[in-house]
Amino acid sequence: MENLKNYLRILKELGIEEIILKGNNEMESKSLSLEEKQKIFQKLNQTIQECKKCDLHLNRKQAVLGEGNLEAKLMFVGEAPGADEDRLGRPFVGRAGKLLTSLIEKAGHKREEFYISNICKCRPPNNRTPLPDEMEACFPYLEQQIQIIDPKVICLLGATACYGFLRRPVKITKERGTVVNWNDKLLVLTYHPAYALRNLSAVDILFEDIKKAIELAYSE
Ligand code: URA
Ligand code: SF4
Repeated sequence: MENLKNYLRILKELGIEEIILKGNNEMESKSLSLEEKQKIFQKLNQTIQECKKCDLHLNRKQAVLGEGNLEAKLMFVGEAPGADEDRLGRPFVGRAGKLLTSLIEKAGHKREEFYISNICKCRPPNNRTPLPDEMEACFPYLEQQIQIIDPKVICLLGATACYGFLRRPVKITKERGTVVNWNDKLLVLTYHPAYALRNLSAVDILFEDIKKAIELAYSE
């Protein structure tokens, strides 16, 4: 509910007075133009740059909102920025990011078709795994992003992303490749690309899961 209030406040500030409601009172995000979505994301970016809701703000150079197509049918969600992302302000641009990008291209697509983000927007010290409290503090930002982009599929990269959505420990070697209903979206669970860099036999499996996520996103 807090989310919805926040979202409505942002829309109001942008001068958007009218929203189309679906029969079930759910907001119809298709009623937002690309320009309106861009404005909302700019605001959201300003908000996270100043955010101090958890201690991860203490060590960040900058928060990383995410990047890509605000009308994407598929979003990728990782864990949190690493050193490269923290420095450049963009998600998945280090070694793991290069692998993700190359697997998307190998599947015949472009990174820019999709939206890429993380559970936590600020880099944890020494790249440690974000704590449950930190994930909880940050998740409303991702929820707003999802609400506005309204993708069909969200591909969760690694156990931490899975924890962020499902709020339970996920053994990713067991559960990868599974598709889970979440609100009106499909979650595709898979390995984190950094894990695949350490366990090269996981690269092909990650590729299969990414292909599956893309196929689901573009199927009728
Ligand atoms: N790893 C992540 O989980 N996210 C990034 O953005 C980069 C590396
Ligand atoms: Fe705020 Fe998220 Fe950064 Fe924590 S990780 S300070 S909640 S933007």
